Amino acid sequence: MASGMNECIFCKIIRGDIPAAFALQNPEFVAFPDINPKAPVHLLVMPRAHIRSLNDVAAQDDGFGQRLLAFVASVAAAAGVDKDGYRVIVNNGPDGGQEVDHLHIHVLAGRMLGDLI
Ligand code: 5GP
Ligand code: ZN
Repeated sequence: MASGMNECIFCKIIRGDIPAAFALQNPEFVAFPDINPKAPVHLLVMPRAHIRSLNDVAAQDDGFGQRLLAFVASVAAAAGVDKDGYRVIVNNGPDGGQEVDHLHIHVLAGRMLGDLI
């Protein structure tokens, strides 16, 4: 099962099987740099639990989404980009361009990102 948590690259990072420099972490969420950054600051924020996409958020504990978004804001503050601003992107499924099936929020910052949306 190639999409399971045993093979998941992000689960391996979260477990410590693959080293990563965590920008911020707590018992529920982690943030670490994207290996192929698209901006001067490009962090990936995700739950430790192997949740595939936003489609699965409704099945989580009460407050999960609020805690996740609050953690994203904490990551931006810890990276020092909360005042100048940042962009968050969540790719979901094939048409969304999701390559790793472990829910993650891209946090992009460090330059004016332009009018993609
Ligand atoms: P997606 O397209 O699924 O939203 O984004 C996956 C992201 O994970 C990509 O931006 C890619 O650069 C990043 N990525 C893939 N493999 C690794 C890895 O082993 N380590 C880190 N830090 N990032 C990765
Ligand atoms: Zn995973």
